[in-house]
Amino acid sequence: MRPDLFQAPDYYNLDELLTDEHKMVRDAAREWVKREVSPIIEDYAQKAEFPKQIIKGLADIGAFGPYIPEEYGGAGLDQISYGLIMQEIERGDSGVRSTASVQSSLVMYPIWKYGTEEQRVKYLPKLASGEFMGCFGLTEPDHGSNPGGMITNFKDKGDHYLLNGAKMWISNAPFADIAVVWAKDEAGRIHGLIVERGMEGFTTPETHNKWSLRASATGELIFDNVKVPKENLLPNKSGLGAPLGCLDSARYGIAWGAIGAAMDCYDTALRYSQERIQFDKPIGATQLQQKKLAEMITEITKAQLLTWRLGVLRNEGKATTAQISMAKRNNVDMALTIARDARQMLGGMGITGEYSIMRHMMNLESVVTYEGTHDIHLLITGMDVTGFAAFK
Ligand SMILES: Cc1cc2nc3c(=O)[nH]c(=O)nc-3n(C[C@H](O)[C@H](O)[C@H](O)COP(=O)(O)OP(=O)(O)OC[C@H]3O[C@@H](n4cnc5c(N)ncnc54)[C@H](O)[C@@H]3O)c2cc1C
Repeated sequence: MRPDLFQAPDYYNLDELLTDEHKMVRDAAREWVKREVSPIIEDYAQKAEFPKQIIKGLADIGAFGPYIPEEYGGAGLDQISYGLIMQEIERGDSGVRSTASVQSSLVMYPIWKYGTEEQRVKYLPKLASGEFMGCFGLTEPDHGSNPGGMITNFKDKGDHYLLNGAKMWISNAPFADIAVVWAKDEAGRIHGLIVERGMEGFTTPETHNKWSLRASATGELIFDNVKVPKENLLPNKSGLGAPLGCLDSARYGIAWGAIGAAMDCYDTALRYSQERIQFDKPIGATQLQQKKLAEMITEITKAQLLTWRLGVLRNEGKATTAQISMAKRNNVDMALTIARDARQMLGGMGITGEYSIMRHMMNLESVVTYEGTHDIHLLITGMDVTGFAAFK
């Protein structure tokens, strides 16, 4: 892969909306991605392997629990800093961002918000430092967009719970030390349980043959009569709203992350268009290629504004699930369209691993599907504006 020459587009001087802390956090993450991720990521994506050696670096830039209070090992940052970290990591690779998102919003967040003080003290500092890695088990083979139909369940056996069922498509599963698992009790109510690697009957087979998020490890979670200690139940929230609350936080991070992938594709295509000569002039001097670039920077700028505003609302505790859905859907679609156009602009070179674009494009096919598909987010917006749920 070529040297990383990334320069971030900021067409509307949005840096002026950021605090010094935001810029410091973002620049540190940007510098780390250039140094530690860009040089190796293509190789790991080609090998379909997660680069475990970057876990410590991710922890050092505050990517694990950016908004978790410092007393639990988190970085104690605001929601915009969290978003900017996700943006910079996904500028490098969506799979690496997925690992950080899962750790922060899908593992640390529920332990912090729904867990006991003992659970917070036991798990959060180790998750923040990367000593423990976590995964989040909601999706099942027969229940993806409709997680409320899950069949994974646990029974009260007096001194422990007995957990049975299976989860599918779980990021980080093959190497996770703990899993936050969503399962139904005997009354059919959904609860979160912390399941630890090594518990008898708990296995995590890896999912192979992915063309997308190849540098992120994905797997199944299988529970065959797993005895889970009672103190591992997250007691402070139950029902489908509990996992959905985690997804709000993760989807918000994805909205920022997708901007990172889009910026990288735009920046690469812009530079290429200025250097690549055909018919005795740079391809960037042709109207057709300028149309693509002009539309890309317009869409990136709109997404940056939308997402910054969402960050302000999140900081004020006012962002709604539907607002987060809109940003996730819009930004991932925007990034995917830009990746496809940018790939074409590089001609044959666009399909190689010399450039990051094709990897971003393939990664974004997962990002547009997970944490609520493109269509499901449209239905959430539709329900929000009409008052009618069209899911069923
Ligand atoms: C790489 C990767 C990593 C993932 N990581 C995780 C993870 O860490 N943890 C986790 O729990 N899950 C994870 N997922 C699962 C992901 O969230 C699901 O794939 C996603 O929710 C969609 O579910 P599904 O694949 O079963 O598709 P389905 O729900 O079967 O949907 C298939 C199609 O039908 C459409 N559809 C469904 N219902 C409706 C409806 N009512 N009206 C109109 N259209 C509809 C969908 O939009 C989609 O286009 C991951 C997935 C991938 C690909």
